[in-house]
Amino acid sequence: MVDDTLFPRAPVEAVAYAHVVLERSMDYPDGLTYAVPASMRDLRVGERVEAPLGRADHAVQGYVVEIVARSDFDPARIKPIRKRTGITLPGPLVELAQWMARYYCCPLGTVLGAVVPAPVKRGVGNVVRRVVERTGEPPEGELPPATRDAWARIEAMPADAPALEAKALAKSLGLTSVAPINRLVKLGVLRIAEVRSVRAVWAEHAVEPDKGLTLSEEQRIAFERIARSLDGFSAHLLRGVTGSGKTEVYLRVLDKVIETGAGAIVLVPEISLTPQTAGRFLGRFGQAGVAVLHSGLTAAQRHQQWARIATGEARIVVGARSAIFAPFPARVGLIIVDEEHDEGYKQDQAPRYHGRDVAIKRAQIEGCPVVLGSATPSLESWRNATQGRFVLSELSERVGGARLPRVQVVDLAEERRARPWSDQRVHLLGPRLESAIGRTLAAGGQIILLLNRRGFANYICCPDHRCGWTLRCDECDATMVYHLDKLSPAGGVVRCHHCLAEVKLPAECPLCARRVSVFGLGTQRVEQELSRVFPELIEGETLLRVDGDTMRTGRDWLRTLDRFGRGEVLCMIGTQMIAKGLDYPNVRLVGVINADTALNLPDFRAAERTFQLVSQVAGRSGRGAEPGRVVVQTMAPESPAIALAATHDYRAFAQQEMEMREQAGLPPFARMARVVVRDQDYAKALRSAREIAHAMQTEGAPIRVRGPMPCPLSRIAGFHRIAIEMTADKASDLQRALTSARNTGLLKSDARTSVDVDPTALL
Ligand code: ADP
Ligand code: ZN
Ligand code: ZN
Repeated sequence: MVDDTLFPRAPVEAVAYAHVVLERSMDYPDGLTYAVPASMRDLRVGERVEAPLGRADHAVQGYVVEIVARSDFDPARIKPIRKRTGITLPGPLVELAQWMARYYCCPLGTVLGAVVPAPVKRGVGNVVRRVVERTGEPPEGELPPATRDAWARIEAMPADAPALEAKALAKSLGLTSVAPINRLVKLGVLRIAEVRSVRAVWAEHAVEPDKGLTLSEEQRIAFERIARSLDGFSAHLLRGVTGSGKTEVYLRVLDKVIETGAGAIVLVPEISLTPQTAGRFLGRFGQAGVAVLHSGLTAAQRHQQWARIATGEARIVVGARSAIFAPFPARVGLIIVDEEHDEGYKQDQAPRYHGRDVAIKRAQIEGCPVVLGSATPSLESWRNATQGRFVLSELSERVGGARLPRVQVVDLAEERRARPWSDQRVHLLGPRLESAIGRTLAAGGQIILLLNRRGFANYICCPDHRCGWTLRCDECDATMVYHLDKLSPAGGVVRCHHCLAEVKLPAECPLCARRVSVFGLGTQRVEQELSRVFPELIEGETLLRVDGDTMRTGRDWLRTLDRFGRGEVLCMIGTQMIAKGLDYPNVRLVGVINADTALNLPDFRAAERTFQLVSQVAGRSGRGAEPGRVVVQTMAPESPAIALAATHDYRAFAQQEMEMREQAGLPPFARMARVVVRDQDYAKALRSAREIAHAMQTEGAPIRVRGPMPCPLSRIAGFHRIAIEMTADKASDLQRALTSARNTGLLKSDARTSVDVDPTALL
């Protein structure tokens, strides 16, 4: 490593010139030109380097994207690269990042910056070990007896013995001191070499042993289809109902791929990457060959896992969204995206990429198959499959004798009428769900309850309709949510879920001085009701609330699952965290407290999300020998999203929803991009949104532009938000228009303007 900082003005003889894309949001896809000093003659494309920037020569980091022999610039003015960082991205990842920068309309430096995890850049856990090596020179002359003895023992060591530090070596040779080793170093027979590695304290993963299952007929057909196509790019959609053995199919195909010597990437939604999931891969492929990347890791562990992939030590990576950037040094032979419909695959800050789509692109670049799996595929993937662009395989039944649970849809309006008049308390559990809980507890089963809203209640308002006052956030276009807090003297706080502002619960309506009412739903309120009705459900012990408030870190989540898995916890009530991927055979009841929370969102995917959520959470029930039950409470029992999820009829739902999308010209029948302009000054935001909308329209491209219009969430933290939605029949049309607006400098991806290609959230 060479550090030229001591001589910044000294002329450096360039052996070549490197185009370096800096890790910041400057939109120069070709990078800046730097001189490659002779000491870095072997610099490669993909290397992360440090270089000086600006008049003050600030040290900045960037990636070499091209190396050229000559430069058109005045050589005297080209600054040299300062340092290599020791991090190198393999060629396919550089190509992938370049594609992302174009497709997602995002500066290449921002994309590359996201490809390498922060702990890797910071070098968290880096250690330098000073190990003893043989130089190959024989000792000359007479050695003192202790040294001679040590040398004899070293010579007797096998050639492939691991390199050790002097102290450890002395110990392993049975020496009482390191003096003989030091003497041998002085004599030139041994030498000290520096080895860099990443050290992390590692919590052992549970390893689930291979059960040696026989594939079902459907599993076998799916497996063979994928296994036949390992030698080139192809995309597969594996649609299998919950518990149908998709993971088993992945494992079999992985087996094949690993045999060929290639690496493989398995993407799993962050929240379902549990020790259980990881354990199945570790059990089959051994801890040495599997790297695991999720948010429950410490920074050092994350760095270590990345390094294991980069050195080729781990050939399979199982991880959340960003694991698609696994830096395999050799060929990638397979990419799997489990639960491909999951919203968590979309990143909500720049680069706003979709993990599934990037996976498809990476598979194309690597020349390998990509397998998308889901019980409820996104309509995008379903359309690709039904039109023959993806190979479709289906698993229609649960394996191992388990059956899909019986789903009962109950009408909340009816449930309310069933309560006696005299009962004035708030009930979020209707009589039917309540009795199902009672029976399940009595039979020793476990329960999962879903409610997609945190806090206690989301409306604080005047009880008088004519007054109509509700507590809204001063800075956001949203109502505030009441959270119980046993530690606070007032018993709780009112919080805005968007800007996190907090106020005290007002005692009376500011307009008419009536006592305020607290309305609406929240996980805390269900928790309170459960512990009131069922004495065996004790908050924090047998009853756990699982939401963003109680699960601050990935590790909290892992601990909770552990307790649930051991049967200590009888019931979990939570937001969509608990809807996904969990496979606990003793879960015999799943309850959806209110299926309408997602259905009523102002987003064209609201029905699709509701269908997915209800299907997924229902899929947690009845995975063992005992049959499972599901109770779904809703005000809209007739809505297709809920009724068809209850009968597990994906195909019927997809067909209905597709027809509506086609008529409305919405994805997957069109491609969409969304620009959001935000500013504290409404007029300013509107002005620049108009300019963008105008530019998109007058390009003459076949694009439909909606807006400018206020976002459904029209203000967050004092910033007005104005959206422009663009749709086109073809992605390339959209791309062309976006690129030309970008080239004129109108579409800067910055704090004020966000460009979202293929948006999944339209709030
Ligand atoms: P999915 O990924 O579709 O939800 P899994 O692969 O997790 O399904 O399988 C569900 C359960 O069934 C797991 O416990 C798994 O070990 C088991 N299983 C998978 N395939 C078979 C099979 N062919 N025979 C018996 N059990 C199986
Ligand atoms: Zn707010
Ligand atoms: Zn009032």
